Amino acid sequence: MVVGERNALVIGAGIGGLAAAIGLRQAGWSVSVLERAPVIAEVGAGLTLWPNAVKALAALGLDVTDRSVPTISRGNIRTPRGRWVRRNHPEDVGVLAIHRADLHDVLRKALPESALHTDTEVTAVSTDGTVTCAGEELRADLVVAADGVNSVTRRTLWSGDAVFQHRTVWRGVTPSGSVWPVQESLTMGRGEQVGVLPLPGERVYWFLTANEPRPNILYADDRAEVLRRIGSWHGPIPELVSATPEDQVLHNDMLDIDPVPTFVKDRVVLLGDAAHAMTPDLGQGACQALEDAVVLAANADDLARYDRERRARVHPMMAAARASIARNSDTNAFRHFALLTAARLVSPAAWRKATAQWADWDAPRIATQA
Ligand SMILES: Cc1cc2nc3c(=O)[nH]c(=O)nc-3n(C[C@H](O)[C@H](O)[C@H](O)COP(=O)(O)OP(=O)(O)OC[C@H]3O[C@@H](n4cnc5c(N)ncnc54)[C@H](O)[C@@H]3O)c2cc1C
Repeated sequence: MVVGERNALVIGAGIGGLAAAIGLRQAGWSVSVLERAPVIAEVGAGLTLWPNAVKALAALGLDVTDRSVPTISRGNIRTPRGRWVRRNHPEDVGVLAIHRADLHDVLRKALPESALHTDTEVTAVSTDGTVTCAGEELRADLVVAADGVNSVTRRTLWSGDAVFQHRTVWRGVTPSGSVWPVQESLTMGRGEQVGVLPLPGERVYWFLTANEPRPNILYADDRAEVLRRIGSWHGPIPELVSATPEDQVLHNDMLDIDPVPTFVKDRVVLLGDAAHAMTPDLGQGACQALEDAVVLAANADDLARYDRERRARVHPMMAAARASIARNSDTNAFRHFALLTAARLVSPAAWRKATAQWADWDAPRIATQA
């Protein structure tokens, strides 16, 4: 790999790392992305992109409208027996549902193959811009640590391991046309929530979030475990789970991190989950990684500004995500009833206002260089 003037090394080819590489290249930097996996690809299931993420993508010159569908996300709420608590209209919120692999593909294709280095695990990073991988030392003017919630960069140069939030999540995507059409919804049980989101190509993304006493509990058959928990919930939930191939049901513990006091140390910046991993309760983790990428590209010569602006934006969101965990994990029948009643009474306009603090954001301009 070539490391020359104004060069950046990006650690991690997830959504955050790829977006950062695109933005920095646009701003005139020479960029190499170092990814430990043998191939650059995203497994995962679906993802919601809020208007702020769509604006961030536009600032990077990207458009995902033909690979996504408008969704109501969390605005259509049902009970496990299927009663509608409230229904919204897509235009109230302007959220897109996309398959992770599709978003990842759009990002990857915006970069030249020569910028992507797979099978390259970073083992050490110094604040002077030295990065060690495969026994080789590389030097860069800027190191972007986009290495995820368990970031080796954060754990060594900062501190703080990921925090298990006593929650776990199963996810899947149905094969095209297997259960179709379906109506998007969020079904709220006591301590358990099921999301149903149609995706392009007559596929459906579903997820189940639930309480879990300790991390790393493995289930012999994840699909059977999901059906054991929610097989009696309203249709089409059991049908969606049953239609998903058993080996494609994903199971992960929900992790986040405590807020870090700075995202920048000399030449090294944290970005995406490495900087501010949140549980998916607000559906903003990837959206914020995309925002980070644009703000970094616009301020790569003023890292203090990146640090200031991004912490001011994401730290309140991290607190809100933790408050959401407390609500979503609560199994108390009275408080659950109160939660559903409040959801029923909130008007679409009030809900729009409540989400606006996260969804409303304007992308800074990236000064492009030839
Ligand atoms: C169940 C679930 C649902 C979610 N839903 C949403 C949603 O609807 N909307 C939303 O906006 N967000 C959502 N999120 C959050 C979102 O997935 C993350 O915030 C986002 O993927 C973070 O991207 P990232 O690039 O920062 O990190 P990652 O995607 O974790 O990428 C990190 C990359 O770094 C690589 N890497 C790690 N260590 C090294 C190393 N030492 N050397 C080289 N490479 C390394 C990894 O292999 C990986 O490719 C959800 C998360 C979960 C768990």
